[in-house]
Amino acid sequence: MKIHEFQAKELLRGFGLAVPNGRECTTPEEAAAAHEALGTDVTVVKAQIHAGGRGKGGGVKLVRSADEARAAAEAMLGMQLVTHQTGPEGQTVRRLWVEEGSDIASELYVGIVVDRERKLPVMMASSEGGMDIEEVAAKTPEKILKAAFTPADGLAADDARRLAEGIGLGGDLVDQAIVFLQGLAKVFGELDCSLAEINPLVTTADGKVLALDAKINFDDNGLFRHPEVAELRDLFEEDEKEVEASKYDLSYIALDGNIGCMVNGAGLAMSTMDVIKLSGGEPANFLDVGGGASKENVTAAFKILLSDEKVEGVLVNIFGGIMRCDVIAEGICAAVKDVDLHVPLVVRLEGTNVEKGRAILEGSGLPIITAGDLDDAANKVCAAVAG
Ligand code: ADP
Ligand code: MG
Repeated sequence: MKIHEFQAKELLRGFGLAVPNGRECTTPEEAAAAHEALGTDVTVVKAQIHAGGRGKGGGVKLVRSADEARAAAEAMLGMQLVTHQTGPEGQTVRRLWVEEGSDIASELYVGIVVDRERKLPVMMASSEGGMDIEEVAAKTPEKILKAAFTPADGLAADDARRLAEGIGLGGDLVDQAIVFLQGLAKVFGELDCSLAEINPLVTTADGKVLALDAKINFDDNGLFRHPEVAELRDLFEEDEKEVEASKYDLSYIALDGNIGCMVNGAGLAMSTMDVIKLSGGEPANFLDVGGGASKENVTAAFKILLSDEKVEGVLVNIFGGIMRCDVIAEGICAAVKDVDLHVPLVVRLEGTNVEKGRAILEGSGLPIITAGDLDDAANKVCAAVAG
């Protein structure tokens, strides 16, 4: 799960980390009032969407008066903000964050991700903040310093010092940075984060270290332990179909192609997408209906697939291991009768009672194209979509 910058900053503040004061606003009037209340010469009006790169796209604006704050807010609210992370259609701006402007001396980078090989969170720090860290990693990887830590022990003090000094800090700034880095590691561990990124972490002209941006993602499987975090979910920022799918415990990710896929098991879903590509098609989604998919789940899955205007054909690929193919076939038939099927449907079943299952599909009188193996199924759905 992702949250907004301002929510991430409030969480950091709660852990005692240095962030600018600010206010969430949803109207130009509130933005003007926030500028007055914050009282600094410069405040910054920042569009809140679940994507980075807002600065370059016009979603971060420095203002010097309440009128300027109002005007910046008017321009941003309701706009489709396009950044390199949103895709070409952009994301609608519904909320703003107006915060104190900082007199920036240097922009640094700090991030934490889970390193799957080491099976530990790893903090990365760099003197090259404010820009694309991917580019730094590609061109000058030596400028990214790393330290692994365990959620239980947190970031060791000497690792924090090595990182702080390694990214060029000196004097009192080192001590402030150590507090920040150890604090960020603590947030990461305690809140079951999957990613925490501060880009930039800045030093200011008056000698402070603070987070000017904050991005925190959470491991969905840990959310039940943090109801206060789960409450921060903003459904407007998520794909509608993905939200609907999550209600039925379906693992669904929308993609750009035109062939809807319904598969049981994540591995089979991945290979189904591969085989569709090999047959010259483009999957419209990843969808794992799970091992024990019920008729309700299958029906919900069909509805989600068919609500995608890009979908011109559907491929169902189910392996009946624990579930029998005849039961699955009955579920598919019932679901097809329930939804308005307006595109070709290819079904490939394999596993226990597969013959019975196929007979049910073929005898159903429904416009279902059955397939023998996965290649056959992929070829049939690609041909149906092309024709
Ligand atoms: P994004 O990463 O989405 O572009 P940031 O929050 O990183 O958004 O802001 C982009 C840039 O705007 C920062 O690198 C920084 O230079 C500037 N900026 C952001 N917040 C402030 C602030 N409070 N005071 C001064 N400059 C800021
Ligand atoms: Mg940023």
